[in-house]
Amino acid sequence: MHDDLRSKFAGCLLGLAIGDSLGADLEGHPGDELIRAYLEGRYNTDRLALSMWTDDTALAVATAQSILDSGCVNGADLAAKYLVWFEGGGRGIGRATLHAMRRLQKGASWDEAGETGEFAAGNGVAMRIAPVGLYHSRRATGLEEDVRTCGIVTHRNEEALLGGECVAYAVARATQDDFDPEVLGIELLSRLKPSRCQDSIERAFDAWHAGTELIGALQSIGLGGSAFETVASALYCFLVAPEDLERTLLLAVLAGGDADTRGAIAGAISGAYLGVEAIPSHWLSQLAGAQTITDLGYRLADVAPGEE
Ligand SMILES: [Mg+2]
Repeated sequence: MHDDLRSKFAGCLLGLAIGDSLGADLEGHPGDELIRAYLEGRYNTDRLALSMWTDDTALAVATAQSILDSGCVNGADLAAKYLVWFEGGGRGIGRATLHAMRRLQKGASWDEAGETGEFAAGNGVAMRIAPVGLYHSRRATGLEEDVRTCGIVTHRNEEALLGGECVAYAVARATQDDFDPEVLGIELLSRLKPSRCQDSIERAFDAWHAGTELIGALQSIGLGGSAFETVASALYCFLVAPEDLERTLLLAVLAGGDADTRGAIAGAISGAYLGVEAIPSHWLSQLAGAQTITDLGYRLADVAPGEE
């Protein structure tokens, strides 16, 4: 296996965990004062320490471990691993996932437990789906099906699943040698059916192409916890600094709103593209479980199937 691929896989999971950890204490931060201060050079980034990571990292790690244990994306095994996390405390759990876990506890099967309805349109699939994207980095087919298998364990909602598909696709593509951030939007939009997810992704890429002022662009995309807002705003933070993981992550978390999940998604995509080497060492040294997460990435790279 190429060292480059192992670096990208580990970079993806580490970027996710660092984005989550940086954003954990900023979740729900109102207004634009932090990101404005950063853009104007008035924000001392040393002030921003990593907190303990939240549900985003815990469930992404569980997803990666499940793929390694099962050798595939297995709904029953994913549900069992998510339940272990929930019963261990489930720090930071979202509403749809909470309801799904309670149904699993009562004996519902993995494909019946997921929350339905409009309130299940959150980012709970998108935040944990990056390992499924890595698993598909060298496969030509099956990404959408595997995103659904993983996603419906907690979210039986089309917008939540489409948001997950966007993240998994972006992560898979970002590991590939011919990846071009400039054409990612065209590729994503051609995959998606008409949806709020498609509208938001289009808005993000339009704002980036037009060079719209950054804070205004993020506010027009939306900073909340719906899948379509979080995925599109995270992609936008990646697009405006595709060669600079540190800047992508600072923009993603300092924008406020659902900062930890935006940071997790932006970090997964940026880390998959740039690899471990792009991650600032002062963040890596603060990250809880950094070695375990690195090893998970390496092992996934070693088993990722494909015709390389
Ligand atoms: Mg969280």
